[in-house]
Amino acid sequence: MQKNRLFNLSRWRLASYYAGVMGLILGFCGLAVYEMTSQDHWRSLDQELTSLAGTLHDGLEPLLGQPGQLEPSVKQFLPNLCLGNQVCSPPLQQRHILNATQQPGYYVRFLDLNGQLLATAGENPPGLAFERETTRQYPLTDQRGDRYHQVSLQLKTVTGQPWGYLKVGRSLTEYDHHLDTIESFLVFGLPIVMIGVGLASWWLAGLAMEPVYRSYGQIQQFTADIAHELRTPITAIQATLETTLNTESSSEEVYNTIQILKRQNCRLTHLINDLLLLSRMDLKTVNQNQFTLCCLNDLVSDLTEEFSGLAIAAGVSLSAKLDSQEIIWVRGEEEQLYRLVGDLISNAIHYTPTGGRVQVILETDKQQAIIKVQDTGIGIAPPQQTRIFDRFYRVDTARSRQRGGAGLGLAIAQAIAVKHQGSLTVESELGRGSLFTIQLPLPFSSCF
Ligand code: ADP
Repeated sequence: MQKNRLFNLSRWRLASYYAGVMGLILGFCGLAVYEMTSQDHWRSLDQELTSLAGTLHDGLEPLLGQPGQLEPSVKQFLPNLCLGNQVCSPPLQQRHILNATQQPGYYVRFLDLNGQLLATAGENPPGLAFERETTRQYPLTDQRGDRYHQVSLQLKTVTGQPWGYLKVGRSLTEYDHHLDTIESFLVFGLPIVMIGVGLASWWLAGLAMEPVYRSYGQIQQFTADIAHELRTPITAIQATLETTLNTESSSEEVYNTIQILKRQNCRLTHLINDLLLLSRMDLKTVNQNQFTLCCLNDLVSDLTEEFSGLAIAAGVSLSAKLDSQEIIWVRGEEEQLYRLVGDLISNAIHYTPTGGRVQVILETDKQQAIIKVQDTGIGIAPPQQTRIFDRFYRVDTARSRQRGGAGLGLAIAQAIAVKHQGSLTVESELGRGSLFTIQLPLPFSSCF
């Protein structure tokens, strides 16, 4: 289908809104995940450090005698302890509980009450400040720019005198690396994801627009068909009038002209009524309260009788097959049901050559009333069987027009069947005949 500018513009708009909304949602989700991960990581890191500092604090305090003095027993407690800024070799024996202080990136510092460094254990980050405060929470940075998280505690002697400060810290390199990875994913991954979202949006917008394109195409086709159908009788009327006006005509010729005008006018009225009926059925929601009980036995008998004259004129035998013992009722609009079955019988007679047969059969199954209109006529080829219910579709345009048909009969018949919550189907074989089947729901079935 040719998709015009307006549809492409709408598709673009729909795709952009969708991609924009998805982008915002994904962006917010990404930021939320980043924030939560960083806070979670920080919390566990802080907890680990606080518990390590607490263990050291509790283990060391009973060993501290004089303020600012490190007893030898402290060295036994922390085998990797280095006094002042000495460079010490790693201890031979490692104590399980304090293993963390011997891992890369961890350090322990002892400061006296004046903030002078007494000893260190673990790593010794160059240029890291020796603050005395115990409240500092933000990360420290060493000379190399590496960040450290540190927990400070005040130490007391066995007698409860202030001894100095214990500082336990760990490098934030791993933590920063982890956050950098998430950040890189968000910065580089999100645009890539957005390209995918954009393509998906374009595709989805196309899918959403497809029914709109289709109905737009149908409306265009329908309008063109109506214009075409209206033009034929109007052109005929115009030509007849001009000929009559331009020539001297006898009263008989004028009478013939009026007859032609009447026929064309009838055709126009018929066409307009059909169009009105179709559009009303399209617009109206079905109000079942307006339905009355209709007896299908009467309907089939009446129509068979009504069309018998036409059948005789066409040299076709028309018969009805119904069980006189079973009266079948359906709920519906009687006039429309007459129109539905009448159109099928009229078509069957018209498309059956002289000598052929048309039979109307009325029967039921458990929940449905079934009306079949069967003929031994020209039949319909399989590719056209699905199209004959389309508005204005005719297999043989000349033949259909000749009988005044505009290709709306089956479209209206199907719309009526659907309105009555039923269906209309066709089975046909070219040259052998057709079988049209109407199925309508039974309100109840009763046998007399
Ligand atoms: P029309 O009023 O122009 O006949 P319809 O909608 O009633 O239009 O039918 C559409 C087309 O279906 C017809 O042009 C005709 O070719 C085909 N058709 C309908 N009924 C029969 C039938 N019983 N046998 C063969 N062809 C049929």
